[in-house]
Amino acid sequence: MGQRIDQRRIRHYNGESRPQGPVLYWVHREFRFRDNWALIHAQAEALRRQVPLAVVFCLVPEFLGATLRQFDFLLKGLEASAPRLQQANIPLILRSGDPATEMNRLCTQLSPSLVVTDFDPLRIKRQWLQSLLKGQTAPVQEVDSRNIVPVWIASPKREYMARTIRPKIHRLLPEFLTPFPEYSAHPHVWDRQPASLSFAELHQALKVDTTVAPVDWLQAGEEGALQTLTTFLSTRLDNYDQRNDPNREVCSNLSPYLHFGMTSAQRILLEIDKRGLSGENTESFIEELVVRRELSDNFCFYSADYDQVSAFPEWAQRTLEEHSADPRPYLYSLEEFDQAATHQPLWNAAQRQLVQTGTMHGYMRMYWAKKILEWTPNPTEAMRIAIYLNDRYALDGRESNGYTGIAWSMGGVHDRGWAKRPVFGSIRYMNANGARRKFDVPRYIRTWASKQQASFFA
Ligand SMILES: Cc1cc2nc3c(=O)[nH]c(=O)nc-3n(C[C@H](O)[C@H](O)[C@H](O)COP(=O)(O)OP(=O)(O)OC[C@H]3O[C@@H](n4cnc5c(N)ncnc54)[C@H](O)[C@@H]3O)c2cc1C
Repeated sequence: MGQRIDQRRIRHYNGESRPQGPVLYWVHREFRFRDNWALIHAQAEALRRQVPLAVVFCLVPEFLGATLRQFDFLLKGLEASAPRLQQANIPLILRSGDPATEMNRLCTQLSPSLVVTDFDPLRIKRQWLQSLLKGQTAPVQEVDSRNIVPVWIASPKREYMARTIRPKIHRLLPEFLTPFPEYSAHPHVWDRQPASLSFAELHQALKVDTTVAPVDWLQAGEEGALQTLTTFLSTRLDNYDQRNDPNREVCSNLSPYLHFGMTSAQRILLEIDKRGLSGENTESFIEELVVRRELSDNFCFYSADYDQVSAFPEWAQRTLEEHSADPRPYLYSLEEFDQAATHQPLWNAAQRQLVQTGTMHGYMRMYWAKKILEWTPNPTEAMRIAIYLNDRYALDGRESNGYTGIAWSMGGVHDRGWAKRPVFGSIRYMNANGARRKFDVPRYIRTWASKQQASFFA
């Protein structure tokens, strides 16, 4: 480390320049300590100032409906990565409580010369950042380590669809797809390390719903991410053209790791390059991993109402409004959806896959959301239910991809108009017959008929 990162990745807040005082990296999105531009930048700044460096994580005891399942994955992954920091003489300070309050308290106590933090477009994260800026005067720098092309550089506006952002991203990729600098031990150590909670204390501080159990079919953390990537690249990528078949295990299963930042899209692309992988399957995977994923952050960054009907394009809001009085073929409550108690075995199977494993096949996610739109009184209620269930059960929930995927399915975001249908208007429609033409529906239903099906992922 010690290298200057591309300055376009950074946004600067609070002008006051301070040569003295440690550098703090406040992590809340990118839970990895290698291949992390924010940490690389924080260390470069600490080396330049010849001051100590610490990483701060503040556990929010409750967070956007997250349950034990997601907190367990996050904390286990963070704990597994902690020794890497220790070996590099970088303390990990663990706190619990409102992150902005805790960060302000820590800044008062430690008088940092700089606070570096992760970029995240979610409203709650924007509020944390604003509270931090109001509460203290140290310079704060926000780094986009999630997207290969920083979201504010890729485009200055909300993009219409993949077609419009794709050329922009591909044009800038060669500039940003650079190797990550090697990790080095930090030479400026703390006289007295700042106080920190232990991981056991963090677990005790959780006030979350424990009825949604942790999963055991994938290992949390950076090592787990690397193993999952290696398996995918060596055994599944060749069959990625079968990715719309929910009975086949050809997708990467990387989304929980990408969501928690336990790996990065940039590392994945560098690994693909290193192995000399190319061809149609590789191109399709890169389209999802880079273009679609970065388009999601673009949507949430430029639409503060990313989880509401008001973020749908104008044509989509109009067509849904025109069909608002259409009779719904079925109407279900949140509880009925949650319990997988609809009339349709295919939808119920998808919901059970989500509940039991913390994930749902990508094709079924689209189908699942569109049926919620069809079987609820209005799109506002449909959005509420889909977001609630996705965020409650999915390991990768509460992020740009989820809000965008739901808005795509229900509100034509990044899509075009299709032939008109009851309830949907011109929003793209999906039904069970279409699913039957694509894959063996009875087999999928049998797989998720009931009980634990973790062996599906073995
Ligand atoms: C209704 C709905 C809800 C969704 N909710 C989420 C969510 O909460 N979290 C989430 O990460 N993704 C979500 N997606 C997007 C996509 O379904 C998942 O990213 C993908 O299924 C994850 O499985 P994988 O890692 O095996 O994907 P792979 O096919 O192996 O793709 C690799 C990576 O590319 C990215 N990616 C793939 N498809 C998309 C897409 N359509 N949009 C944006 N990025 C994509 C993901 O980061 C994924 O991990 C949702 C899609 C829909 C339609």
